[in-house]
Amino acid sequence: MSTNSTPTFQVLVIGAGFGGIGTGVALRRSGIENFLIIEKWHKVGGTWNANTYPGVAVDVPSPIYNFSFQQRSHWSRFFAPGKEIQRYAEEVVDRQGLRGKLRLGCGATEARFDEAADLWRVRTTDGDEITARFLVSAVGALEQPKPPAIPGIDGYSGRLMHTARWDHSYDYSGKRVAVIGTGATALQVIPQLAAKVEQLTVFQRTAIWVAPKLDFPMGALSNKALDFPPTQQAVRFLGNVAVNAFLGLGLALSNYPRLTSAVLGTGEAALKAYLFTQIRDPELRRALTPTYRLGCKRPSISNAYFRTYTQPHVELVTNPIEKFTTDGIATEDGTLREFDMVVTATGFQVMDKGATPPYPVYGCGGIELGEFWDQNKYQAYEGVSVPAFPNMFHIFGPYGYAPGSVIPLIEATAAHSARAIKETVRRGATRVEIRQEPHDEYFTRMYARNKNTYLFKQGCADSRTYYINYQGDGPAFRATTQAGMYWSNRHFPLDHYRYTTTRPAVLESVAHADTSRALIPHP
Ligand code: NAP
Repeated sequence: MSTNSTPTFQVLVIGAGFGGIGTGVALRRSGIENFLIIEKWHKVGGTWNANTYPGVAVDVPSPIYNFSFQQRSHWSRFFAPGKEIQRYAEEVVDRQGLRGKLRLGCGATEARFDEAADLWRVRTTDGDEITARFLVSAVGALEQPKPPAIPGIDGYSGRLMHTARWDHSYDYSGKRVAVIGTGATALQVIPQLAAKVEQLTVFQRTAIWVAPKLDFPMGALSNKALDFPPTQQAVRFLGNVAVNAFLGLGLALSNYPRLTSAVLGTGEAALKAYLFTQIRDPELRRALTPTYRLGCKRPSISNAYFRTYTQPHVELVTNPIEKFTTDGIATEDGTLREFDMVVTATGFQVMDKGATPPYPVYGCGGIELGEFWDQNKYQAYEGVSVPAFPNMFHIFGPYGYAPGSVIPLIEATAAHSARAIKETVRRGATRVEIRQEPHDEYFTRMYARNKNTYLFKQGCADSRTYYINYQGDGPAFRATTQAGMYWSNRHFPLDHYRYTTTRPAVLESVAHADTSRALIPHP
């Protein structure tokens, strides 16, 4: 390890998805220019760069799914395809002047806080060590694919692909294809595959609640209407409120169980009616009807998903998978089906040890963040900061995300991080750490609210939802409205943090660092 006690950068941001881009903009707005954003992929856009499976599209309307500071008025569709969202990420990088702050193809492999020098040392996939006074982890919550733990999977000789690692060199036209999983991703990929393959078999363990998708091409007229800033802002605001209600109302109403139950019950009845309009066969309809409450898992939207199962070459299998064989998949009823390709639409590791974040992080006293959370439960003040991990901020931390579009979350936690960093610099301090008391108060309050929601009280425990993690807790969510998340991340009392200075001389050298030199890409 290098012993250099002068950090190269004031801030290092890990990840150039929407989280890292939003953080870069928040830093610049706070007058902080000496920062670097590293990204393991060779393009920006995060999830929209990694997920290129057929049919990938945003399922939050595109006029809403954009940053408040750079709203885009020209979309091809109301729910734009993934590559258009990735292009939007590139546009934001260019217009917000972040291109020169990027180091692409550079992933973090370890972060370690140097207590003597008050800085973070981050090792990277290109063999470098980057030092920065402050660290912002913006790696995203749905980042690490979760392969299914099915016996024999390693011995399967056909093409095996997780949806988040799509291999476009493989032509699946006319092939026998299987999909494992029926979550929001499977919902998008299944109709696309069905259109091209000879035989499609979908292995469903748990059915998903599906609503119709009010999708349409954004013609010249609707895009023109969005060109008018008041219309654009109104659409974005009202749309965010609606998405927040669709995905999060049940959680936010945790103190009103009767009302929650009535809201969920009404939603369930409406979605069952939609399924009825799509599928005539009562047995198939029964198989596609969830047995858990709406909201236990993420619901989704599609106009094509249910009807795909009415095609003669598409089969829905609900008998549990027993194992992979060399050529296919055997189910517990003894049936063996052979496939040329198996798609695992099996989701991601969320609030999981080793995945959140996907690199070890060592704080004060050498404590490792994943170990700490494993032993003490996932926790972070406002979802952003953890005691004993000074100068570090999370964009997608535990109990940080009030369900809805992720953009308001990113803008809120990025603003929080930039505000705390700016205050530290203003005070001439080199270390900022969340105080134990406000942290514990937040965690205790959010934990209790979360446990009081329908997730734990109204039959979600058996739904295998990633909303509940391996510890039996729900740290992926904060059970408040997005308005609450927005407000408290921007207005938290600054003295909830402790600001200290151990090495004034070091601070001096960072404050006057030559940023143009610091930003020269590493060879
Ligand atoms: P997911 O919601 O976690 O769904 C994974 C699916 O795989 C589930 O149906 C699960 O069944 C099944 N599965 C997992 N392991 C299995 C096994 N061993 N055997 C059989 N089935 C297995 O993952 P996802 O569909 O990728 O969605 C993840 C998240 O990505 C969504 O919640 C959403 O937030 C996001 N997303 C967003 C968009 C967008 O447009 N914005 C699009 C797609 C996804 P069980 O339910 O029984 O576990």
